[in-house]
Amino acid sequence: MKIKSIQTKRVTIPLRKPFKTALRTVYQVEDVLVCLQTDEGILGYGEAPATAVITGETLESIEAAIHYFIAPTLTGCSLMELDTLFHKMDGCMIHNTSAKAAVDMAIYDAYAKMLGMPLYQLLGGAANEIETDLTISVNDIPQMVSDSLEAIRRGYRILKVKVGKEGLADVKRMKEIRNAVGPDIKIRVDANQGWEPKEAVRIIHALEDANVNAELVEQPVKADDFSGMQFVTSRVNTKILADESVFSAKDAIRIIEGRAADLINIKLMKTGGIHEAVKICDIAQTYGVECMMGCMLEGKVAVSAAAHLAAARHIVTRADLDGPSLCAVDPYKDGPLFEEEIIRLLDAPGIGISALPD
Ligand code: MG
Repeated sequence: MKIKSIQTKRVTIPLRKPFKTALRTVYQVEDVLVCLQTDEGILGYGEAPATAVITGETLESIEAAIHYFIAPTLTGCSLMELDTLFHKMDGCMIHNTSAKAAVDMAIYDAYAKMLGMPLYQLLGGAANEIETDLTISVNDIPQMVSDSLEAIRRGYRILKVKVGKEGLADVKRMKEIRNAVGPDIKIRVDANQGWEPKEAVRIIHALEDANVNAELVEQPVKADDFSGMQFVTSRVNTKILADESVFSAKDAIRIIEGRAADLINIKLMKTGGIHEAVKICDIAQTYGVECMMGCMLEGKVAVSAAAHLAAARHIVTRADLDGPSLCAVDPYKDGPLFEEEIIRLLDAPGIGISALPD
C-alpha cells in the first residue's frame, strides 16, 4: 500500500476563555489539518497548531514544510515501511517539528487503520483511559481562584497553573489557590521559562514553605539554560519537569544524564511526532524517569494521537492533554471521548476520528 497524497487545510475553533501563559495570550485554536490518502483509499489524519514562541513555526511555515518538502518526499512511498518513512521525513528538512508531527500522526493513523486496530494497541498499550489535568491561565488572583473552583466542579482533580510573570507575587497566587481548592487536588505549576535560576529557587522554596504542596514545577528557566535547570533541580525538593528544554530524544538524554530535571514533558509538536516521542519514552524508561504527555493549544486529532501514546506507555505517568477541553465546540466527527478529566479511547481503528471538519 502506497501513500497517494498528503493534503492540508485549516481549522479554527473558539476557546471557552482566553489562554494566557508567561509567553502569550491566545483566543482560539488555529490548526493545520493533514489528510493522508493511500492508493487503497485509507485516510490518515493529522493536525498541528502554530506555536511560534516554542517551536518557531507558523501556520504558513507548517503548510509550506508539508507542501514543498514532506509531501513530495513521502508521496509514492510504501505505508508498510514506517521506519523508512520517518527516516525520509526527518532527512528532508531539519526542525519544523509540528509539521512533521502532523504528518507522522497521519501515517500512524493510516497504518493502524490498515491493521484494523486502535492506535494505542498498535503502540503496545493495554489501558484505554487516562486522566488529564486542566490548565488555569495566568490572571489576577480572584479570577484564577474562580477558574480553579470551576475546573473542580467540572470534575478535574489535577490543575496545571500558569505562573512566571510576577516573581514572588506568584507565591501568593498559588497559596490562595491551594487554600481555595483544599488539600486533595493536585497542583502543577508551569512557569513557562519565566524565572531566572536564583529567582526560581527563591520562589520554589517559598512555595514549599507556604505548604502549596505543588506536585511539580514545570520549566522554571529558559529552554536553553541547561546549567540553570541543573541549578534549580539540585536545590529544591519539589520535582522539576523539563518542557521547552526537551524537544528530541537527544535532549532527553542530555537532561537526564545531567540531572537537569526530574521529569520530562513529551509533546508531539516538539518531538516531530510519535516516532521520536516513542524514543523518549524508551530512554526515560531505561533511566526510570517518569514522563508527562502534554500538548500545545491543539485540537482533537493531535491531542488524541498523544492520548493513544500516553495510554500505551507505563513511563507516561501524567497527562496534560486538555486542548479539546479548553475549546468551546468540537467540530470533529467521532474520536476518543473527552469526558472532562477522563479521556476514553475507543476501539475504532487508528486515532478514531472518522472525519475532519469541513
Ligand atoms: Mg509547559
